[in-house]
Amino acid sequence: MNKGLLSVDEALTQLLVGAVRVADVEDLPTLEASGRVLARAQRSTMDVPPMDNSAMDGYAVRAADLKAGTKLKLGQRIMAGAVGRPLEPGSAARIFTGAPIPPGADAVVMQEDTEAGSDFVLLKKIPKPGDWVRYVGSDIRKGAEILPAGKRLLPQDTGLAASVGIKTLAVYRRVRMGLFFTGDELVMPGEPLAPGRIYNSNRFTLRGLAQAFDCEVNDYGIVPDSLEATREVLRRAAHQCDLIVTSGGVSVGEADYVKPAVEAEGRLLMWRIAMKPGRPLAFGKVGAASFIGLPGNPVSSFVTFLIFVRPFLLKTQGRSTVEPKAIAARADFDWPEPDARREFLRVKWNPQGGLDLYHTQDSAVLTSTAWADGLLDNPAGHAIRKGEQVSFLPYAELFR
Ligand code: AMP
Ligand code: MG
Repeated sequence: MNKGLLSVDEALTQLLVGAVRVADVEDLPTLEASGRVLARAQRSTMDVPPMDNSAMDGYAVRAADLKAGTKLKLGQRIMAGAVGRPLEPGSAARIFTGAPIPPGADAVVMQEDTEAGSDFVLLKKIPKPGDWVRYVGSDIRKGAEILPAGKRLLPQDTGLAASVGIKTLAVYRRVRMGLFFTGDELVMPGEPLAPGRIYNSNRFTLRGLAQAFDCEVNDYGIVPDSLEATREVLRRAAHQCDLIVTSGGVSVGEADYVKPAVEAEGRLLMWRIAMKPGRPLAFGKVGAASFIGLPGNPVSSFVTFLIFVRPFLLKTQGRSTVEPKAIAARADFDWPEPDARREFLRVKWNPQGGLDLYHTQDSAVLTSTAWADGLLDNPAGHAIRKGEQVSFLPYAELFR
């Protein structure tokens, strides 16, 4: 039944061979590096914390002094940002969270476990050496790797880099993605919808996806169904972009000019993939730019972007992990008549912690993608029985 069709995994393997990481690296202020891909492993230039300090508001003491009694003379006050004097034997220092432990002290008693007078403090609890002390280098050792190369930097990563004083980070330059949309039936929202016309929804979906994956986008808009128009925009895009992604025109209908246009301007592989939605996919090269032609059906172009363009793009961006991680989840529905092709079903979490299925899986029904929480990855020909464990790709994972 799948004769002549390429499996998703075969197509992905071939596709990824053609994905080459961008060569250019730029030093970006750490404050602007969130969302970018780190080009070199980042090591710490210092110990964190940089000195032994107190984890609590309380009293710094020498544990050995407390054999003689639990009432200690109050010496100094040490605030965060200050430096204390050596602790005199038999005394305690008032200390605040983050303040350096004074030389000679080896423990902190939290203020809740004390009774303080004006010049003494009475300890209601005997500390062990090390209590409420954060030791130098206990979080990060000088020279330790704090961020691996190929990581897409999250806000907490840039915070971590800043916490060891790193002012700039080496990141790959952004990938420039060119987009265009084929189809004489397409009009933009705001224009009158003449009979037979439809709105160019893929432009919104695909541009949003390109932006969600930190691309610079060149959007060439709607291209008429003609060989010359398609070739012209391809030539232009090939000069300006790393990757050209298109929607529509990759079937073998009479108005499908993407195939002959890419063949005339570059090289093209036409694939029929054993997946649903999204059977046709075109992959090629125009000049130095890579080309991926997605089907026009709105659900198909959304799903094939996530399954094929996403890993291709992530590899081009220099990211070390490109495969999405599926999770096991419970299907709370029957799917008795599976397709012979691998299916990506639009499903949503229910309050019972299982997955519900959108009532139609038609590849023209964009509503299903907006309703869903992700895609159920169903093996070819597999009938799902209610209660069964299935492989689920949450949007949260697919959009990372
Ligand atoms: P095609 O792949 O060009 O044969 O298009 C397949 C189906 O998707 C047709 O019903 C088209 O009208 C529709 N379609 C193509 N491009 C878009 C688009 N940009 N936005 C919404 N629907 C589209
Ligand atoms: Mg078309």
